[in-house]
Amino acid sequence: MLKELFLNLTILITFNYLFTLLFKESLSYKEDRPMFQLLKGAACGLLGVFLIAFGFSYSDSIIDLRNIPIIIAALYGGWVSTAVAFAIIVAGRILINFNASAIFSIAAVGIIAILSVAVLRGKKPDRKKAFVMLLFSNVIFTLTLLLLVPEQPAGTLVYYWLISTLGGMLSLYIIKHEADARLLFKKYKFQANYDFLTGIFNKRKFEEISRLLYDRASRSASSQLALIYLDIDHFKQINDQYGHYEGDQVLKELGTRLRFLISSSDPSARIGGEEFAVLIPNCTYTKGLHLAEEIRQTMDGNPILLTSGDTIFVTVSIGIAHYPTNTGDPQTLPLIADRMLYKAKTSGRNQVCSTEKKE
Ligand code: GH3
Ligand code: MG
Ligand code: MG
Repeated sequence: MLKELFLNLTILITFNYLFTLLFKESLSYKEDRPMFQLLKGAACGLLGVFLIAFGFSYSDSIIDLRNIPIIIAALYGGWVSTAVAFAIIVAGRILINFNASAIFSIAAVGIIAILSVAVLRGKKPDRKKAFVMLLFSNVIFTLTLLLLVPEQPAGTLVYYWLISTLGGMLSLYIIKHEADARLLFKKYKFQANYDFLTGIFNKRKFEEISRLLYDRASRSASSQLALIYLDIDHFKQINDQYGHYEGDQVLKELGTRLRFLISSSDPSARIGGEEFAVLIPNCTYTKGLHLAEEIRQTMDGNPILLTSGDTIFVTVSIGIAHYPTNTGDPQTLPLIADRMLYKAKTSGRNQVCSTEKKE
């Protein structure tokens, strides 16, 4: 019997990894799409059938860990998953060996399913709830087994309680650990590429994409590229007058407006405190200039609402560089855009500066 229960435990642990691989982030959220709830239930149901098939057959009864897939379904899928898992386990138990004992064990699994859903009551899974569910299911299993096979070999129930509790708690730990790790990985991946304040790319990612686009442009004779640098005018004064928090709201709003004005396929980024950049492939000099002017006007003509309720007008200075109008080497575009931005600042701010000259 120990051998079969150990086999059940290894199947269960393997399943836990596959389960987290299959359902990834959807394990961490309470709200789940109905399709996922059905699939989770189906996966848990199939696991239950496997566990029965590899369980310990003893005097018409089968001793296995089928209660755990029911608990996993309740914890991570809710009542829909639990119902699906239950239906599949019932079908499996009937197909594997249908007898009087099967009816009792089906009833026991049904009670475990109802109790598990009741314990969770739509809340987030945690260790305490999993433990209570396991306790309930072990008690129900014990009563069923005592009813079906009054004379137990020594240690049967002790082994069952130990392995079932271990398997259940281990399952919860593995699934939770994997789900948390996936969420963290997603979060760090986002932070590595995006600016947390504005939601557009950060400098590192922007430079990575720019390098690729510069390389591609220099390899093709007909390529065009426009690089736009913009810097908020007198931003320090905004911070000084309204506070750093409101300054952040201005940065966020500029990010939102950029996202609205620029095609999502063109990379835009916050490359410094209050400095932003946009790189537009396949863009003529005139089109780049138009877009830059549109950004400037959008800022100049539309006040920003602060959280305090105040509205302020914020202007930007813009420098633009174009390949091949300004240079034969796309890698030099940042230098030229920077120079044009400096010119816009020194010529009175709130303007777009560019040149048709080749540097
Ligand atoms: P100019 O018109 O010449 O660009 O003047 P400016 O005041 O915008 O430029 P300056 O470089 O003197 O100041 C930039 C300010 O941006 C100073 C810094 O405190 C602020 N800043 C940088 N990063 C952040 C940020 O993340 N949040 C906020 N609120 N302020 C920031
Ligand atoms: Mg600046
Ligand atoms: Mg500035």
